[in-house]
Amino acid sequence: RAVSRTPRGPLRPRAIAAPSAVPFLPSADHLQEWGPQSWKQREALQQPNYPNQAELDEAVAQIAAFPPLVFAGECRTLQSRVAAAAAGEAFLVQGGDCAEAFSQFNANRIRDLFRLLLQMSVVLMYGGGVPVVKIGRLAGQFAKPRSADLETVDGQSLPSYRGDIINGPEFTPEARVPNPARLVRGYNQSAATLNLLRGFATGGYAALDRVMQWNLDFTRGSEEGRAYRDLASRIEESITFMRACGLDMHSAIMRETDFYVSHEALLLDYEAALTREDSTTGLWYGCSGHFLWCGERTRQLDGAHVEYLRGVGNPLGVKVSDKADPADLVALIAALNPENTPGRLAVIVRMGAAKLRERLPALLAAVGAAGQVVTWICDPMHGNTEAVQGYKTRRFENVRAELEAFFDVHEAAGTVPGGMHLEMTGDDVTECIGGGAAVTELDLSSRYHTHCDPRLNAEQALELAFYCFGRTRK
Ligand code: PEP
Ligand code: MN
Repeated sequence: RAVSRTPRGPLRPRAIAAPSAVPFLPSADHLQEWGPQSWKQREALQQPNYPNQAELDEAVAQIAAFPPLVFAGECRTLQSRVAAAAAGEAFLVQGGDCAEAFSQFNANRIRDLFRLLLQMSVVLMYGGGVPVVKIGRLAGQFAKPRSADLETVDGQSLPSYRGDIINGPEFTPEARVPNPARLVRGYNQSAATLNLLRGFATGGYAALDRVMQWNLDFTRGSEEGRAYRDLASRIEESITFMRACGLDMHSAIMRETDFYVSHEALLLDYEAALTREDSTTGLWYGCSGHFLWCGERTRQLDGAHVEYLRGVGNPLGVKVSDKADPADLVALIAALNPENTPGRLAVIVRMGAAKLRERLPALLAAVGAAGQVVTWICDPMHGNTEAVQGYKTRRFENVRAELEAFFDVHEAAGTVPGGMHLEMTGDDVTECIGGGAAVTELDLSSRYHTHCDPRLNAEQALELAFYCFGRTRK
């Protein structure tokens, strides 16, 4: 297989620019008509129809009184990191479940995703020679946009499952009724998840020498496992050398990591209840997660989601498919990032391998001609979904091919591939076909656990990181 196992030549020493200190500071004009509830004047797609308004109001009021989950200062730091990724001075990796589930909430799953993202970033840092910005798609990734309002099974139609924060996945009339009590449960799960992640990130668990020792079971037999262990021993040598030079292994830089959380800001009642004014700047932040994105189905310029997101100070993402028109994208970027602040906005491209080569160049050209600074991120998952044996799946070779196309198109255009966005899990699932793990069509039924889209398993995700090895350099 063509996965690159070795670095392409020696690492080029590179000056890492200090993080940009420019926060997103929208003009008074931009914010004139905006407020945490101003989205209610616009059409909000993909929202549930709650049968009982009083219950919804009560749940929203409760959450509005709860503490914020993330803080403005953290969002501003992340923004400077996303800005570095736009300039090729960092590479961003965002990954996690398509949809978090109440029933799959446990500490080990969070630990395994965290650990996997750290291992992928070690591979990418070594290969790319730049820092990696780590963002988990979790602690709030509950609500799902659906292509149809109804799901029909054996002639019976019920409202579609919209994610655990809205209704239940079971195919029964009771489960599918949107229940506002789920908002509070979603908040509580997110709070507990963040608490654990903060502990992992700063409590010594993420120490680099430990990361290298993690020998996940799945790395034992496979080629990726060998490649990872080989890399680990090279990094250990580098650490020994640095220690001899006087590097303090107890310093924060060797023991701690920055880890951020993200989700699609889809369920606007939840987002609005967690929108808080920052006491130091007077700006509003979406305090449900550090990085919030707008999905492909809800990015209408005059829609409620764009209205909500344009006013919060968080770093944002917007998903675009092959259907995006270059002029529309330029207008959308201007609406979300009117001051053209680096790191404010990432465009997450999800087109499918073949279509990306056709359609991305025109978007890069239009955005470049408009002088807009965005961080380009590749989501190689959502344009490559297919049905096999009754399962929604993705083929590893297509996922990798889209990533390859993304790097190639940027190279040809002279623009910067800033990161990747994956649906993945630290668990040993069989939801995507192929890769070194050689999950076959027949394996799909064995460990297919997702409530929504199919995820890469740990081995497949690590293999993608190896694929990017050396391609993340400017
Ligand atoms: C998702 O990220 O799970 C999703 C629904 O993506 P998109 O908006 O790109 O379809
Ligand atoms: Mn998905």
